[in-house]
Amino acid sequence: MNFVAEALNLSKFSTERLEERGILRRAFVKHPFFSDIVEAVRIEKKFGIYEEGTVIVKGKESLRVFRGFPKIRRILYLESGLKKHFGSKKIAVEEKMNGYNVRIGIIGENIYAITRRGLICPYTTEKAREKISKEFFDEYPEHMLCCEAIGKASPYVPDYYGIDDLEFFLFDVRESKTNKALSIYDKEEIAKRYGLKMVDLLLKTSAEDIENIKKTLEELNERGREGVVFKDLEMLLPPLKYTTSFSNCGDLSYAFKNFEEYGRDFMLARIIREAFQTFEFKDDLDKRAHRLGKAILSSAIESIRKVSEGKEVTELLTLNFSSEEILELFKIHLKLVGINLREIERREKNGRIEVKFERVMRATTDKIRSLLEGNPW
Ligand code: ATP
Ligand code: MG
Repeated sequence: MNFVAEALNLSKFSTERLEERGILRRAFVKHPFFSDIVEAVRIEKKFGIYEEGTVIVKGKESLRVFRGFPKIRRILYLESGLKKHFGSKKIAVEEKMNGYNVRIGIIGENIYAITRRGLICPYTTEKAREKISKEFFDEYPEHMLCCEAIGKASPYVPDYYGIDDLEFFLFDVRESKTNKALSIYDKEEIAKRYGLKMVDLLLKTSAEDIENIKKTLEELNERGREGVVFKDLEMLLPPLKYTTSFSNCGDLSYAFKNFEEYGRDFMLARIIREAFQTFEFKDDLDKRAHRLGKAILSSAIESIRKVSEGKEVTELLTLNFSSEEILELFKIHLKLVGINLREIERREKNGRIEVKFERVMRATTDKIRSLLEGNPW
């Protein structure tokens, strides 16, 4: 606790408040793989200026703070939303990629990868050490690379891009202690210089250019992509996000497949997004209605069919590890995160250990079974 108060520069009063609220949680599993870390905790709910997912690390030599990645607000109506927020400022329209949020930083001698809620993930850390060169951190030791982790070997989000293994796509470079972001220009330059993959920068424009922006979104939708993030080129204003119909319907389809695992709010929000988009883009109602209805019904029916055949509603994923040791560490990590994966197959492939996991959607499976047995909802 002492090191947290010291790292965050908290007064005695604030330190007591932090303890009272009970929002500090473990951020990692102690293990030689994390040899540079003596102690690490995360903040589970926003505290003062500190975002949810902020991590405080007591390293062997120094204290480090990795601020939580800030929430990005969403607009539902582009034309007024962009003008209201950005005025006449220059903006970047970046592709929003659908994977999981990772902050990559250096602690002592090694690279570490932190997931959104502030957990130092051994699996992601191993991949980051393999794929990201330490050179960047020689120049920017106090910064973090904010990336979307994507690919077939992702433990947390399915792959929509046909990317083998796990890759990191840079979208922000931030000072880890203050969360101050470098400008879009500086980020582009860094990505180039250090050979980092970056999310696509689709347009540099302004809110006036609404027709072009809409066209870009239509193209993304046709390519089956998630959406965009609008950013002030100087990164002084907070960004905004907006998603395609493809993504809204994809989310709904997933939510209805596992309908007992997903909240009502999650579903309602996506339906309303579709309504606003259909209105603003003046799209054909019948086409939209068919797409939305199909997304919802077909996946729910698929789950019902599975359970009716005596199976469970599940997801399969294949991960790979450099050693048994990291595999075991990752399994302990999953307990800490509260994710329930069952190992169903293990083999050696290209000098790595490839493991198939199954995730059972327990609540949905049980609910469907009960309904099929004739029990009331
Ligand atoms: P948030 O609270 O930030 O809105 P969320 O969990 O609701 O997060 P999303 O709706 O996926 O998540 O939107 C924000 C996330 O999008 C970011 O946290 C980041 O991981 C991801 N992302 C993908 N591409 C970009 C990009 N170009 N710029 C910023 N974030 C991006
Ligand atoms: Mg996302």
